[in-house]
Amino acid sequence: MSGEQVMQVANLSVSYGPIQALRNVSLSINKGEIVALLGANGAGKTTLLKAISGLLKPTNGEIIYKGENITGMEAEKIVEKHLIHVPEHRQIFSTLTVLDNLYLGAYHHRKKSKKKDIEEKIKRVFELFPILKERKDQLGGTMSGGQQQMLAIARGVMADPDLLLLDEPSLGLAPLIARDVLELVRDLRNKFGTTVLLIEQNVVASLKVADRGYVISHGEIVKSGSSQELLNDPEVKEAYLGHA
Ligand code: ATP
Repeated sequence: MSGEQVMQVANLSVSYGPIQALRNVSLSINKGEIVALLGANGAGKTTLLKAISGLLKPTNGEIIYKGENITGMEAEKIVEKHLIHVPEHRQIFSTLTVLDNLYLGAYHHRKKSKKKDIEEKIKRVFELFPILKERKDQLGGTMSGGQQQMLAIARGVMADPDLLLLDEPSLGLAPLIARDVLELVRDLRNKFGTTVLLIEQNVVASLKVADRGYVISHGEIVKSGSSQELLNDPEVKEAYLGHA
């Protein structure tokens, strides 16, 4: 890990009309890190990812990405900067093949990418996700939940992320499949050096793959530390690991 900062969020606040969903959230992510953002339903995790990727405008605070202030920038512009958001519930194209879903992942950068580069990327993605290679001609919607999640992540990888935002990749998956998907996130970092901000309700499983984590509660960061520190923290254990 180089220690080079990819993202710094400072005092970020976001409201939905009268409802303040995020309150002075600050966090940082270094190059090559997997950082977990943990918290209960409705804590503000998705809101934070949406604000980072330009889908929501903050009312206050700053988002610095690769040294540039991107606060309030259009989502389209942010994608072009290789800050890639893989949203909750997969949202793959169910009537397109696996391969076409992957090509679409490279869509925003296709003007800059040569065909050869895209083919090379597909090859690398298939090395990491062999199941997608086996099923490349299958329609996305006919794959299992875990495979669709892998496809959603792989499509994000096709956009050459300098920072990949993953919103609950294990949502709705059986525990063993969820573990496989999270292990793939780790493989992705280990093989491609991808920097990841990972949202999870699945606290134990995500801290096993993450380097560090932040705990968010009612729109505020209430705790942060290394994965080991958080796993051993009595309050985290009490609040989130009770049923682990
Ligand atoms: P989940 O795990 O359920 O996705 P979360 O931690 O991602 O939860 P958010 O979806 O960010 O939480 O929601 C944070 C708060 O903002 C919640 O109180 C939620 O009800 C509220 N909220 C989210 N989206 C909207 C919206 N479009 N309009 C109004 N309030 C919203």
